[in-house]
Amino acid sequence: MSATSQCPQSDLHFDIRHVRMEDSNIHYLEVKARCKICGSPMVFRGLPLRVSPEQPTGELGGYEARLPMLGEGEEPSGSLIGFVGPVVRAQ
Ligand SMILES: [Zn+2]
Repeated sequence: MSATSQCPQSDLHFDIRHVRMEDSNIHYLEVKARCKICGSPMVFRGLPLRVSPEQPTGELGGYEARLPMLGEGEEPSGSLIGFVGPVVRAQ
């Protein structure tokens, strides 16, 4: 049995980074998670592959989730750059 198959991923380390887009009031949290025991990365499921100020998105492979956010009561303003790609599907 490999270390991975013995590990229930029961102790996770989260890496959360705050990014503010230049020329915009949009902030993002970039979230990754990894098992502290076996080191395996966790894969986010069902996130579209892109950067968007409108909805949570993911990176290729699903290893990172990007969560856009605004201050309460704010409307998105400034340069709202994004790109569109396929949905991330975990295997
Ligand atoms: Zn593990």
